[in-house]
Amino acid sequence: MSTLQILPEVRDVLSRPGQLFIGGAWQDAAGGERFAVENPADQSLVNEVAQAGEADVDAAVGAARAAFEGPWRQCQPARRGLLMLRLAELLEAHREELAQLITLENGKPIANARAEAASAANIIRYFAGWPSKIEGSTLPVSPASGNPVLNYTLREPVGVCALIVPWNFPLTMCVWKLGPVLATGCTAVLKPAEQTPLVAIRLVQLIEAAGFPAGVVNLITGQGVRTGSPLAQHADVDKIAFTGSTQVGRLIAQAATGNMKKVSLELGGKSPNIILPDADIVRAAKGAADGIFYNQGQVCTAGSRLYVHESVLDAVLDELRRHAAAHVIGPGLDPASTLGPLVSQRQLDSVREYLRRGVEEGAELICGGQRPAHLERGHFIQPSVFLDRQERACVAREEIFGPVLTVMSWSEPEELVARANDSPYGLAAGLWTNDLRAAHRLAARLKAGSVWINCWNVVDPASPFGGYKQSGWGREMGKNVIDAYTETKSVFVDLA
Ligand code: NAD
Repeated sequence: MSTLQILPEVRDVLSRPGQLFIGGAWQDAAGGERFAVENPADQSLVNEVAQAGEADVDAAVGAARAAFEGPWRQCQPARRGLLMLRLAELLEAHREELAQLITLENGKPIANARAEAASAANIIRYFAGWPSKIEGSTLPVSPASGNPVLNYTLREPVGVCALIVPWNFPLTMCVWKLGPVLATGCTAVLKPAEQTPLVAIRLVQLIEAAGFPAGVVNLITGQGVRTGSPLAQHADVDKIAFTGSTQVGRLIAQAATGNMKKVSLELGGKSPNIILPDADIVRAAKGAADGIFYNQGQVCTAGSRLYVHESVLDAVLDELRRHAAAHVIGPGLDPASTLGPLVSQRQLDSVREYLRRGVEEGAELICGGQRPAHLERGHFIQPSVFLDRQERACVAREEIFGPVLTVMSWSEPEELVARANDSPYGLAAGLWTNDLRAAHRLAARLKAGSVWINCWNVVDPASPFGGYKQSGWGREMGKNVIDAYTETKSVFVDLA
């Protein structure tokens, strides 16, 4: 087993406890508390990081408010765009450090972490084009007075935004939210997941280096209940953007009612992936395997329910077995690994419990299901495939957030649509076919925010992303997200 050389810049981040960034100053938590960040590949301590409490949350929101009402408001759109382009350049220049930090705290294979770091620069670059293009309109109103009236709309930044993000894409999730915050002229209090605060710290160092005014982006690290909850409830926060579990999303929505914050939520999924009888089976099975095993299955859009036409079921199962067996399970810092550990002991326990219950509830385990024997430490689990003929087991219905695929067969197209849509979630769906008409007809009927035809997990900053049903509220990315971070003001001028 080989392992990457850790860069000096990464060692520097790890050489002292992680701090909060409030109003342009790095500082310890007011209460002096810290929490540990673990390497999921060997359970060693990576670093300690400040545990923010209510006083820190309050200070961060105050700093974000001061920047919003002050220097940031005066900052011209062109300048905002320029600062964002500078940030994109810095993200690109420092992408290897960012990738190493992601792998150290999240566990994912370094190649995947590198792709995540590279995409962060692209996302910020995309949003850097927006500040000078957010515009209102003039409207043909017909006032009762009969007077000539000019009516126009202004798009204004919504204000102070609380950004609460998960650990599965610890850098991507930050920039998906910071992109529209910065483009629209809002300010932010960013709270990364407690499992993965280190890459967020490095990101905020780069934001500081890019030259954004103090208070535009503030960072508070800490646990959900102790840090996230007071932030979600804070009366001076105008908007919350949250990505995480549906369970916590519900708490966030409730917390937001105090001062009627705007809320956008990106939540869980149990996404159906459908193989039609005419599909290219080799390509479809590879897509299905990647759609569930990528990022150790810890992906909100994981294609965790695979519906295979009965005529090709055996062929697809053979291919899935082959793909699962081909994975090299090991620490993410070993460039040979293609499947890393799960993020935490809690996540591993939860996935193992699903594997146990899946068998108990009558699903047939086709492959996997065990911890790999060659790895003594770390939260590793084999990529696993169930066949559930009844579609009743928990593994066919509940989000597992691990590398566990449940396969079902189908024969009747009408019944297939009903089964695919029979879920409280509606984040993504996929289908594999060479029949264009069938593909578009099905795409229109699937209740999902993203539908992938002959592909999976294709996301782009220009295209909206989000969920139907309990997978969330609102859309990120593209034009849609700009609306979510702006208020529309209607101005009437009586010209008589
Ligand atoms: P989580 O909901 O436990 O945590 C997400 C974030 O919320 C973390 O920063 C956490 O500290 C914070 N948090 C936890 N409790 C809180 C509370 N009471 N108040 C305020 N903040 C709180 O989710 P997780 O375990 O980090 O991630 C796994 C889940 O996230 C999965 O269900 C997955 O589907 C979902 N997810 C969805 C998307 C998406 O885009 N839809 C992306 C990634 C993950």
